[in-house]
Amino acid sequence: MIASWPTGAGPAAAASLLRCKSFLPDPSPDGQTESGALKSAAFVRLWSGCPFVDQENSPKLTATDSFGSLLFMLLRAGKKALPDHIEIETETDAVRIRLRTNPRAQRYLLRLPADRSGPVLTVPKGGNLARAEKFARQNINWLIERLQDRPDHVAFRPGDLVPLRGTDHVILATGKLRGLISAGEGEDGYPALFVPGADDHIPRRVTSWLKDQARKDLTQRAEVHAKTIGRKITGISVRDTKSRWGSCASNGRLSFSWRLILAPPDILDYVAAHEVAHLQEMNHSARFWRLCEQLAPQTPSARIWLKENGLHLHGFG
Ligand SMILES: [Zn+2]
Repeated sequence: MIASWPTGAGPAAAASLLRCKSFLPDPSPDGQTESGALKSAAFVRLWSGCPFVDQENSPKLTATDSFGSLLFMLLRAGKKALPDHIEIETETDAVRIRLRTNPRAQRYLLRLPADRSGPVLTVPKGGNLARAEKFARQNINWLIERLQDRPDHVAFRPGDLVPLRGTDHVILATGKLRGLISAGEGEDGYPALFVPGADDHIPRRVTSWLKDQARKDLTQRAEVHAKTIGRKITGISVRDTKSRWGSCASNGRLSFSWRLILAPPDILDYVAAHEVAHLQEMNHSARFWRLCEQLAPQTPSARIWLKENGLHLHGFG
């Protein structure tokens, strides 16, 4: 289910290519064919919608085989669409990059979103696949450095560390099928999270337990602060928000990121105070910040903490 240049081909290649309809080559800007362009040290694997890739057993395709001209006609016919991602290989790494067309973009742009969904290459209006690949190859070292800087993703499997309320707890499978998750001390005296259920279900169970804990802590802190200023909260929801830690609607509903349960309690308390303060001051004026600091004196340090560590909290679950 992979097509790559330049190697031998056969009928199998044509069949597999037709299954991957949005796989589209485009002559590179200098008129060089893709097969020439891809002879460089880093080569590009392209596919779209294929569930998996097995490079060793993949059929290969060439522009010079007996199906060549037919394939090129098919490929040109679909020139408008781009594959949903490309994969750039170097000697040490293979990096999958999603492609996104944006008619308003002025140039090619490579970025690494904070939500850990992986690198994205923006293709401007009039852009094409060959140029996108070239741009990605030119910037691949920059991208790999950024990716390596990131802490490893923690999926909440047995043995993983969860920073529950800012303190690392090791996930221990109890081996029992039933029961509730509980936090306590492991045999070695270190904090542990005891999780029943089948191993496969542990990540999901831990995530939903953490969301419950976040809801409890946030509700408790928000209610304390609301009482202090004599305001009423009409509802609290806990979600996996990507770009904000909390929000406050004009009808009195507060919304928070469940990931705040992975931060020290002072940080969660600051975000609760911040949103409650918006019940009184629907802005970020000096008056708002005075009120916020009145409710949560740790406001300045908590804001710095979130700036420095917030991204890390997106690496869990
Ligand atoms: Zn705010």
